[in-house]
Amino acid sequence: MSNINRSLPLSSQLQQRSLEAVWHPCTQMKQHETYPLVPIVSGQGVWLYDAAGKCYLDAISSWWVNLFGHANPYISAAIRDQLEQIEHVMLAGFTHEPVVLLSERLKKIAPGGLGHCFYASDGASAVEIALKMSFHYWLLCGQPQKNNFVSLQNDYHGETLGALSVTDVAIFRETYAPLLRPCTHVPTPDWRYAEIGESPEAYAIRAASALERYLAENHTRTAAFILEPLVQGATGMGMYHPIYLQRAREICTRYQVHLIADEIAVGFGRTGTLFACNQADITPDFLCLSKGLSGGYLPLSVVMTSDTVFQAFYDDKTAHAFLHSHSHTGNALACRAALATLDIFEHDHVIEANKIKSAYLNKIAAPLADHPKVSNFRNCGMIWAFEVETDDRDFAAKCFQAGLKQQLVLRPLGKTVYFMPPYVINEQEINLLINGTRHVLDTL
Ligand SMILES: *Cc1c(COP(=O)(O)O)cnc(C)c1O
Repeated sequence: MSNINRSLPLSSQLQQRSLEAVWHPCTQMKQHETYPLVPIVSGQGVWLYDAAGKCYLDAISSWWVNLFGHANPYISAAIRDQLEQIEHVMLAGFTHEPVVLLSERLKKIAPGGLGHCFYASDGASAVEIALKMSFHYWLLCGQPQKNNFVSLQNDYHGETLGALSVTDVAIFRETYAPLLRPCTHVPTPDWRYAEIGESPEAYAIRAASALERYLAENHTRTAAFILEPLVQGATGMGMYHPIYLQRAREICTRYQVHLIADEIAVGFGRTGTLFACNQADITPDFLCLSKGLSGGYLPLSVVMTSDTVFQAFYDDKTAHAFLHSHSHTGNALACRAALATLDIFEHDHVIEANKIKSAYLNKIAAPLADHPKVSNFRNCGMIWAFEVETDDRDFAAKCFQAGLKQQLVLRPLGKTVYFMPPYVINEQEINLLINGTRHVLDTL
């Protein structure tokens, strides 16, 4: 290392050494000349502790992954137990109990008929898998021309090239546009786009008719329609009426186009039901899960699909197989973390308990929703968002800094401030979150 001053406090040392050795994700590294990194040394429940001993309420669940708090004793114990047995074994030619148990349990709780689990390590890879499987299915059915994808305007599906191709968030997409495969984005059902006086439901129905028009014309060359069900996260928590999902299911079935539900962000209770698809009572052809799947503990993702899709690949010919793999596919430690996470859902009746927490937060946040700088205050299950009136192009960074001063981790998406707290948040912590956010808005 270069001139690190070892007599500095640990926190300054970590900040400086990190900037020299670590290229941080989704970050203009130069901005850390102005805004210091926050060196975290431990966590407990909704709290993160930095090297200087300060604590911060993790209001965004560490990029939406953490469901049951940091250093959750139950999940930690499960991983420790698994460590004593087998940490990892390749999943081609081998299997292990955690991956079998997890697949069986996912099959039981997922929308009906999704019985085959294909694993990877992150969300973007799950999306790649669903896209490849869908295309390959149609190829095996003698329809190779079905090789295009359609997604929603403003959708986010990850940042590897295939996933980015079906993503419609300009700041991630624009630079790499020459590397991406063309993809059509049909109008979003996000109710913020509704005409004045048009209900979210009426607008969602209108958006669905745009999908219908597109597929009526293009279904013979379309493999799948991919969408983020109910909440379009990365674009800024756009929310929409579940009628859109029902319509999308009907339309995709009518035109023989796969429906891929990317529940990487919204799965596992975020929208108030275990899966967002439950609110429309639909089963997609592919369900992508990650983020909360392992409680946010370890990288794990899964694509669940139907018997119909699985059977199309089942053949004597190797070329008919789905020849796709990741080194850590079905990692045993991650599967154990996921099993422990599902245990907590069951034992603690989490979906029911979250309804009470959600209602409490809405009650406490009512004055915030009326704040003169706040518009479009919205909530879906355990997600809240609102837009802040500001001309400051640096708003997101400044809000993050001001949040830290209030012991809060807020990381706005542009001018959209959102809360996506771990489900273990209690009433006192909710009060802190709302009061702190109010203070941030007043001071900015
Ligand atoms: C986060 C996210 C992804 C990508 O997951 P990674 O693990 O970050 O690759 C894909 N789709 C949605 C909806 C997401 O929120």
